[in-house]
Amino acid sequence: MTVRVPLPARGGGNASYDILIDRGLLARLPLLLAEHCPAAVYVVVSDSHVGPRYGEPVVAGLREAGQAAELFTFPAGESSKTRETWAALSDRLLDSRVGRDGALLALGGGVVGDVAGFVAATYLRGIPWVQVPTSLLAMIDASIGGKTGVDVPQGKNLLGAFHQPRLVVTDLDTLSTLPQRQLASGMAEAIKHGVIADAEYFTVLERDCQAALAREPGTLERIVARSVAIKSEVVAADEREAGRRATLNFGHTIGHAIETTSGYDLLHGEAVAIGMALESQLAERAGIAEAGMTGRVTRLLSQCSLPQELPDSAAVDAMLTAMRHDKKSRHGELRLALPSRIGRMAVGADGWTVPVAESLMRSILTAASSL
Ligand code: NAD
Repeated sequence: MTVRVPLPARGGGNASYDILIDRGLLARLPLLLAEHCPAAVYVVVSDSHVGPRYGEPVVAGLREAGQAAELFTFPAGESSKTRETWAALSDRLLDSRVGRDGALLALGGGVVGDVAGFVAATYLRGIPWVQVPTSLLAMIDASIGGKTGVDVPQGKNLLGAFHQPRLVVTDLDTLSTLPQRQLASGMAEAIKHGVIADAEYFTVLERDCQAALAREPGTLERIVARSVAIKSEVVAADEREAGRRATLNFGHTIGHAIETTSGYDLLHGEAVAIGMALESQLAERAGIAEAGMTGRVTRLLSQCSLPQELPDSAAVDAMLTAMRHDKKSRHGELRLALPSRIGRMAVGADGWTVPVAESLMRSILTAASSL
């Protein structure tokens, strides 16, 4: 299937792009790239897990088709999503004399997509790129919307740029090698999509999450398709996060603070799962969400084997400091995207985020850290 992300034209060109979802797409990359992103050379950026398994055959396939291609890899994991990796990749492109007629392919999970996308956004003031997500989380969330960037000691994703890809190629076959814990981590973003936009989808996830975790192909395909449709619709309506796109941050204010302060011990989806459990509780305590919503969210998180409690390393004061650096906060005031019920987000007086008293946040975090 193909999902189109419609975006306003800019710079004389069409910024809209397609997300292709199918099996066997990696083998068809030479043709797809020639059609959607013609270039003099393709630099495939990947990590140390995905590069040897999928990157090498992709580069070999491109060369066989007569296209110039190189593979650059970096060590897998969130700890590589840094300025240093961005600089090392940029230097390799410069050393290889890749020009503005070159293009970049981000082949891997969300970390590869975020760093490679930031390189593409800044190299020679921006070169074309294509997302080839291989983790569930990257397929349903990170590869869509053009947000790129790196983490810094002050917090997650604080340096970055919006840079839309020319194409997203989602080959469902790659999910067969994704470790089980990573698959569950991706389910956290699917649950988020249900909470923020689609109560019926949330019910489907309640019914089908075990089949998804058992990798039942039809179930995984339906989840990828539904989540991609939701995320695409939200980002197409608000490309630069001036409004509704902020709803995608449900679970992420607390989630990012956990990641920043715990040295990225947890996977991104796991931190977001804890964030969704606690932010649901917070929304109910603040009278924003209807009673009983948290119970449904936490039951589904448990069914997906996702954590809901703060890790031992979580320190409330450090988390609050990290939250003040959050991109949604204004003048140091905490602002969160919170649901009013499953499938619907609260709208505040000035948009899709609502102010939250620091005392309430502190009380929720303190209770959660002393469990
Ligand atoms: P990740 O990129 O670290 O990938 C998870 C792990 O799975 C890695 O070890 C990777 O090598 C491995 N892997 C990926 N695909 C595989 C496959 N098919 N077979 C075997 N192993 C495979 O992490 P992630 O969970 O994909 O993404 C998380 C990152 O995405 C975070 O940095 C988060 O901030 C970011 N993110 C970005 C956006 C955005 O809009 N840009 C949205 C959501 C999340």
